[in-house]
Amino acid sequence: MSEAVKQAAAAGGQQNGQAGVTDALLPTYARFPISLVKGEGSWVWDDQGAKYLDFVSGIAVTNLGHAPKRVKEALVKQLDELWHVSNLFRIPNQEDAARLITANSSADAVFFCNSGAEANEAAIKLARRYQQLVLGNGRYEIVTFAQSFHGRTLATLTATGQEKVKEGFAPLPEGFKYIPLHDLTALEAAVTDKTAAVMLEIVQAEGGVLPVDPAYLHRLVKLCRERGVLLIVDEIQTGMGRTGKLFAHEHYGIEPDIFTMAKGLGSGFPVGAMGCKEQLREAFGPGSHGSTFGGTPIATAAVKATLETVLEENLPERAAQQGEYLMEQLRAKLKHSDFVKDVRGLGLLIGIECAEPVGSIITEAQGKGLLVLSAGPNVLRLLPNLLVTKEEIDQAVAILAELLNGR
Ligand SMILES: *Cc1c(COP(=O)(O)O)cnc(C)c1O
Repeated sequence: MSEAVKQAAAAGGQQNGQAGVTDALLPTYARFPISLVKGEGSWVWDDQGAKYLDFVSGIAVTNLGHAPKRVKEALVKQLDELWHVSNLFRIPNQEDAARLITANSSADAVFFCNSGAEANEAAIKLARRYQQLVLGNGRYEIVTFAQSFHGRTLATLTATGQEKVKEGFAPLPEGFKYIPLHDLTALEAAVTDKTAAVMLEIVQAEGGVLPVDPAYLHRLVKLCRERGVLLIVDEIQTGMGRTGKLFAHEHYGIEPDIFTMAKGLGSGFPVGAMGCKEQLREAFGPGSHGSTFGGTPIATAAVKATLETVLEENLPERAAQQGEYLMEQLRAKLKHSDFVKDVRGLGLLIGIECAEPVGSIITEAQGKGLLVLSAGPNVLRLLPNLLVTKEEIDQAVAILAELLNGR
């Protein structure tokens, strides 16, 4: 460490109010006082040498565990060959990655970007442009749901059904409407001849790990079809095998017009993507949308290696099995707790709803060597990687049972 960095580190943490965090960073995150420096499989180590079982996975990003060999090798190979060329040229990895997605999902064409918010931004733009330029009907409204989360750009925070992410950012873009999930009357009323698309998560993840009810979703799809409204599914957290299918909407037998990906798509290399049906292709012709870094040779090397691993190793099925085991164990070991109100989820996206805020439980779990996160104030969220073993699940459940049964 250089002297300058040492001095900055020593002086840090004052204004941020977080021990040790440098004031050179804006305090946008309430960070835990743990500096993670190494990861392998389901485990991470901090700078003091302490080891943690990681049931956060970078928030559903490191779905193949930390530093997966096949993705690492693909990245190292690509780093030796070519980093960046711009989308003005053909990028073989990008074409391969797109073909892997279209061959294994309901999408017919893919656009690559760099994050989840950008993927949703692209989805909103594509839906509006299709309605306005291809169909020529002037539709622009996007209907979303209370408690949803769709990102932090101006359009995607506006799409998000949570007031706290919007505070102080007015004026917000126009053309967004929110309805409560599972309210058919509100849905009927919200979808009009101004509606371009309805956008939803199959499992509201940040909003508390709430899977959408199948009957409601089927009614919603039917209403969208009847009224010429596009369906956008946000698969950013639920995609890439996490819920027990490659994409969570497959559980429901539906085909969205547009769906978005990011988080687990590159195993930790930052990359996002939007997939859409054939008829939407012409709405995004040359010059309509773009991104300098979208789908670089490096990013799409990560996507290719990640998808090949997920598909060849049947990881969606593994996530379904391990998720079922984790949920069973949690229900069995927590069944006498009055503090635990519900254990729910899909695949390896699991929530434990508690009677009170879970902040202190997360900290206590860290003290026992387990990393978990929250989803809203009262829900503990578990997101182990898809290769997590039964032994690791047993260890996590034992720690959680010890903490939760004592309340
Ligand atoms: C994380 C997330 C986003 C935002 O993704 P970023 O990469 O942080 O921009 C959007 N939607 C859902 C469902 C997410 O979980």
